[in-house]
Amino acid sequence: MTGVLGREFALGRKEPDTLASTVDAAKPYDVEFHASEIFSRRVHPWRGMSKPEAQGIIKGVLGVLGGSYDTAKAFACAVHKPSFPGRDPVELAFEDLCSRFDLYLNRLRAEGDRQRGLLILDESTHETALQKMARESRTLGTRWGVIRNITETPLFVDSHASRLVQLADHVAYSVFRRYNASDANYFDIIASKFESMDGVIHGLAHKQTIDPERMCIACVSRRAGHGRQADQTPLLFLDDDQ
Ligand SMILES: [Zn+2]
Repeated sequence: MTGVLGREFALGRKEPDTLASTVDAAKPYDVEFHASEIFSRRVHPWRGMSKPEAQGIIKGVLGVLGGSYDTAKAFACAVHKPSFPGRDPVELAFEDLCSRFDLYLNRLRAEGDRQRGLLILDESTHETALQKMARESRTLGTRWGVIRNITETPLFVDSHASRLVQLADHVAYSVFRRYNASDANYFDIIASKFESMDGVIHGLAHKQTIDPERMCIACVSRRAGHGRQADQTPLLFLDDDQ
């Protein structure tokens, strides 16, 4: 599960629309970037594309975030399901992302930048556990005891109309490929955009209990943040998570 934080219009519509016009010059606004659809090349307008061509589209979308202003940040949480038997992985990831987003806004507040955060969700999550959680985020926030800076009501938007939601979908896809297929080709494009401070990556969580010495940037950075290897810059290693 991921979030893309677009502040101050650091991420505009222009670049994705330019990319869309290379896919359908006549109707670029009808092109919806959905990473798994592009990758599988089964539906229009991705049907008939070569594999490298389709992969290039996904990388192009991620490149918009990779090349964006510093104020645009990414947040993601990868959950190793067997590590948390009996827990709903979606709830776990949602709670984690909200907490990380709130902590980030706390840090901004400490620097004098008082802003409320707004959660924007794809409305296709309609009638899912996620929508229920988002609608109840006010009470959840109280339950977790941590959410202070996020507005009470989340916003649901049609992903077809929101390039930012489409971008978040691609970030999720890149994290999925990174942790599920040991394929970092997509992840590496946006790895530097995960929110970080003083060399500790706060924007990416890897929830797993199987390997305390796991060498992925999220796990290495978390250990560094707890005082170990604190002077080392986190490096990107591949692992073979399920
Ligand atoms: Zn990890």
